[in-house]
Amino acid sequence: MKRTFAASLAAPLVAALALFAPPALAEPVKVVATFTILGDMVRQIGGDEVAVTTLVGPDGDAHVYEPTPADARALGAANLVVANGLGMEGWIDRLVKASGYKGPVAVTSTGVKPIAGEEEHEEKGHDDHGHDHGHGHAHDHGAHDPHAWQSVANAKIYADNILKGLVAAAPAKADVLRANHAAYRAKLDAVEAEIKAALKPIPRKDRKIVTSHDAFGYYAKAYGVTFLAPVGVSTEAEASAGDIARLIRQIKKEKIKAVFVETIADPRMLEQIARETGARIGGRVYSDALSAADGPAATYIDMMRHNLAQFTKALTPAS
Ligand SMILES: [Zn+2]
Repeated sequence: MKRTFAASLAAPLVAALALFAPPALAEPVKVVATFTILGDMVRQIGGDEVAVTTLVGPDGDAHVYEPTPADARALGAANLVVANGLGMEGWIDRLVKASGYKGPVAVTSTGVKPIAGEEEHEEKGHDDHGHDHGHGHAHDHGAHDPHAWQSVANAKIYADNILKGLVAAAPAKADVLRANHAAYRAKLDAVEAEIKAALKPIPRKDRKIVTSHDAFGYYAKAYGVTFLAPVGVSTEAEASAGDIARLIRQIKKEKIKAVFVETIADPRMLEQIARETGARIGGRVYSDALSAADGPAATYIDMMRHNLAQFTKALTPAS
């Protein structure tokens, strides 16, 4: 109640001040972000200084997105475009061209150490899960794994790149943007520490998780978890019968207890794998898209916390 009352007093004052502020300060920066994870980060750092349009919405799949005329119009009116890069948005260059957008594109993964699309994660005993993911890969971005945001250390690099892009687009707002960025970085530090602390008691050899597509390579590397997936880093590829059979053998051999279906993926394949191996289906996890605002992963940080809770619940033996 108090806050509402104070806010109602402050509002006319803010409105009055805005009259005297230069237009550059009053106008929010119009930002187009390619998918929800990036859109959230832009909002965290931009606060009231930005108006964000996100192209691929909650639970959407940015690997195989078909841009719409409305997307082209949003780009046409934008001051800044924010994209992941690393081949995530195979459609972005065509969209930029079609929209006539001539402004800057902040690529959030700039400066991230990319891992190769086909690269195995560090864990040994994992090389027989079949790596000729070449089949069905019509997409042109197999060189790098694009899911760099799955390591919080990389998310901090994303935040830095977003800050840089916003400050360049609106230098007059630099102070508030820098303050928001510092506060967000502190939150990222906290969630990173939480992930490490929660996984620590679980022996490394037991940290094995099956997901529907290979979206957790950076998570694997950062937090010492082994992820197995029947398809590669893009959802465009389809797992062959051979891929699935290999994975089933490996799940049995390594006694993996749970498989996870990502919210962007078709659950049927993993349900089949679960039936045939006796592994149980863990909770839904979020890899490439956030949930709707009232869901469990409305922000990047909520997503990381939600996934961590799902993974640790499945990996911790019931006592
Ligand atoms: Zn993906």
